[in-house]
Amino acid sequence: MGELSPLFAPERVAVVGATERPGSVGRALVENLADFDGDVVPVNPNYDEVCGLPAVDGVGESGADLAVVAVPAAAVLDVVREAGEAGIRNVVVVSAGFGEAGGEGAARERDLVALAEEYDLNVVGPNCLGIVSTPVGLNATFAPRSAPAGSVSFLSQSGAFVTAVLDWAADHGVGFKDVVSLGNKAVLDESDFVAAWGDDEGTDVVVGYLESVEDGRRFVDVAREVTPETPVVVVKSGRTEAGAQAASSHTGAMAGRDRAYEAGLREAGVIRADTVQDLFDAARVLAGQPVPESDGVAVVTNAGGPGVMATDAVGEEPLSLAEFGPDTLDRLRDRLPEGANVYNPVDVIGDADNERMRAAVDAVLADDAVGSAVVIAAPTATLDFADLAVDVADLQARHGLPVTTCLMGGERARAADDALDAAGIPNYFDPARAVGSLGTLARYREIRERERPSPTTYDVDREAARAVLERARERGRTRLGVEAMPLLDAYGIPTPAGEVVESPVDALEVAEGIDGDVVMKIVSPDILHKSDIGGVKVGVPQEEVYDAFEDLVARARNYQPDATILGVQVQERVEMESGVETIAGTNRDPQFGPLVLFGLGGVFVEVMEDTAVRLAPLAESEALSMLDGIKASPLLSGARGREPVDRAAVAETLGRLSQLVTDFPAILELDVNPLVARPDGVRAVDLRLTVDPDNL
Ligand code: ADP
Ligand code: MG
Repeated sequence: MGELSPLFAPERVAVVGATERPGSVGRALVENLADFDGDVVPVNPNYDEVCGLPAVDGVGESGADLAVVAVPAAAVLDVVREAGEAGIRNVVVVSAGFGEAGGEGAARERDLVALAEEYDLNVVGPNCLGIVSTPVGLNATFAPRSAPAGSVSFLSQSGAFVTAVLDWAADHGVGFKDVVSLGNKAVLDESDFVAAWGDDEGTDVVVGYLESVEDGRRFVDVAREVTPETPVVVVKSGRTEAGAQAASSHTGAMAGRDRAYEAGLREAGVIRADTVQDLFDAARVLAGQPVPESDGVAVVTNAGGPGVMATDAVGEEPLSLAEFGPDTLDRLRDRLPEGANVYNPVDVIGDADNERMRAAVDAVLADDAVGSAVVIAAPTATLDFADLAVDVADLQARHGLPVTTCLMGGERARAADDALDAAGIPNYFDPARAVGSLGTLARYREIRERERPSPTTYDVDREAARAVLERARERGRTRLGVEAMPLLDAYGIPTPAGEVVESPVDALEVAEGIDGDVVMKIVSPDILHKSDIGGVKVGVPQEEVYDAFEDLVARARNYQPDATILGVQVQERVEMESGVETIAGTNRDPQFGPLVLFGLGGVFVEVMEDTAVRLAPLAESEALSMLDGIKASPLLSGARGREPVDRAAVAETLGRLSQLVTDFPAILELDVNPLVARPDGVRAVDLRLTVDPDNL
């Protein structure tokens, strides 16, 4: 481990604020340190001895290399300074009364950060539960129970959650290397620990419970380096934040905070768990089982129903049911009775004994098409679960493929626990969870093998784009519409021919220069959704252009008498029959920076909410993956006999937009809706954006 390794491997720990007062944090800390391999030094000027250990008056006299601070908030800064002066580089501040308390506490937290900088300290907390490191028997927390040893390192933004997890883990086959309660993250945050554990020999898997990420882009940069070697799984609470409500664009509404996390975690190669159960299911399987080399799963069961459930679950994961080769089928036919099913899922039927079960599992694990397996058994009179567990563990080790089990039942299933736990094989009652765990391994394989191309750079006219934004600033406009189409032209995004005009006569002149019927739209910063007020006329013949102009203006006036009307856009009509209306947009997240959104577009876009979000700027391959990332993706690849759209052109547009939003921090939100995707390319038909004039 890098710089943080001494934090988790101290030789002498000072507990500042140690006391014998029953029920106090100071006492719990000293008691929990009873198993520590090194020395424990209570610090308290009022006692000579605490819990049988000789106490010192100040942390400066402790000779410690880690100080755990549990004194009242007002005394913390003095203690930390004294520790810094004494050359103690690692400090865990358990005490509350900092940023979380506001006012004076917030000021105190700033001072703590300054001290950490002055003395170059590793500070955990404040307002945290503490840290654990099992290799040295360190439990520097006030949790009632320490962690069982293992290879999972765990960080949590909630101290209470740490206590609960430690208590629960002991009985659930999850063992920990290091645990850290982040508290207020004043100095050390999730990125620091992910980086440190990425370099740590003893850590096989990093799991995290996060409520926020301090610096999203840094987290992405750090985690990207770690995740190809060490899987990182995170549960992020606060999925349904209502923060998107104030947004004025479709993209703003749909690419809210949670989508930003989704995009950031994806880019970082972090596996996101939906629930705490998923988080630890993932931790167990990633710590205990190898990563499969292929997606093919073999299912072996002695019961039909659970086998079907497992098969269904395979369809929900990035897995497929393996198709066995002829040798495997022969072997199975040889060993299984009449009535058994030798095809996947293999049903050895209800009267199977241990021998038959073992033979079947052995045969499927030997098959080249099998990347992983799930063994399912309902309790029967002929099958001994304890022996089955030993067999499965043995076969798993010999074949080296990941295996999960579903030995169903209560008391009888527990007989299998020891052998399975020792082999790191997760056992679940629910076949879907056993398969889900194999799915996690497959997802991790994708992350590990993922190519990480750099963002694609396109040839663009940056100055022309800047001019459009400058003009808006000069006019004091923050909301722009189709009048800003030259912005897209500057970035090489195809738009239909068209112009914004201020009189019916000019409208007619523009229409005459366009082949066929035209489209006319009201242009006003006060009208967000033009078609809602009848402000879009599609298919206007030349002879009606003059009247259409006046009608559009009248509608706008009628809708809002004082609306600023910039004019009417006369636009080439795009043939929609062979096209799909998509949306391409950008947004800006306070943590993760510029984002790109793609989805099914048109007027029902927010109803459908079928979108993919990524961090900008994009590599073209990532842009292409966005097209596959939406449910409606078959529409783009030519569903129901339609001609497929030009996917590369869509991806290129996303890439160019991602470059635009990266180049101009002034662009807060931007929607191209619709971006019409057709077999012969794309057309950006509508545009809306919000700009921050101070950021140009
Ligand atoms: P708004 O989103 O403000 O209502 P749009 O410019 O997106 O206005 O137009 C609404 C709808 O009208 C589009 O979703 C599309 O179906 C249709 N439309 C707009 N412009 C064109 C065009 N140039 N050619 C064909 N159809 C168009
Ligand atoms: Mg639109």
